[in-house]
Amino acid sequence: YRKTVIAGNWKMNMTASETKKFAEEMKKVMPRAKWCDTLICVPACNLQAATRAFKDLRIAVGAENVYYEAKGAYTGEISAEMLKDLSIKYAIVGHSERREYFGETDEIVNKKALAALEAGITPIVCVGESLAQREMGVTNEWIALQVKAALAGVPAEKMRRVIVAYEPIWAIGTGKTATSEQAGEVCTLIRATIRSLYGARVARSVTIQYGGSMNPTNAQELLAQPDIDGGLIGGASLKPEQFVAIINAAN
Ligand code: 13P
Repeated sequence: YRKTVIAGNWKMNMTASETKKFAEEMKKVMPRAKWCDTLICVPACNLQAATRAFKDLRIAVGAENVYYEAKGAYTGEISAEMLKDLSIKYAIVGHSERREYFGETDEIVNKKALAALEAGITPIVCVGESLAQREMGVTNEWIALQVKAALAGVPAEKMRRVIVAYEPIWAIGTGKTATSEQAGEVCTLIRATIRSLYGARVARSVTIQYGGSMNPTNAQELLAQPDIDGGLIGGASLKPEQFVAIINAAN
């Protein structure tokens, strides 16, 4: 079937030292058994420190971004091969903040997803509508377009490794969560879009996360939606007790 995946996205928060401190705190509150895969995406400079710190906690480490070129004169960028060499298994691609502040287009997001998959890394492909788009009633069309564009050229046999994260832009960092029905509906649409591209068997196997002000209070209800298989958590992943509470809600 498919995995439940609870992922933190630390964005540009937490130094390497703070990462170590966070791991120590987590050790005190982490449940012994968990039924979901757990990971935290950290800034590139802290990938190794985080890998070391989270090892005993069985929290995997992901990257927040990856470049699509294999190598060469791309100052400041990091390739999928470089992540792979650090044993990194996940990379967020196309987060709305990268689309908004760093000019990432659907085409760039697609190239990044393909490059990650080529290196055996699971891309966490983010899609989401703006408040204006939701109010105009074009959410479904927009999300279907974003999903198709991001997955262009991804072969069916690699789809099992793809995670799609639905993050309505208006719910990110605002404390304004989509209702579980709103979130569940779009995640169902995402699965239907994948089904139209790859068929029912592949669609059933893909993990779809919700992201946007997910917290210990709303996590259980969101995760109870049939097509929501996990969360991509910003703010609440920076606090050990809150992140653990969300992991427990997935259990
Ligand atoms: P918040 O959980 O802080 O709203 O952030 C969500 C997000 O952007 C995760 O990628």
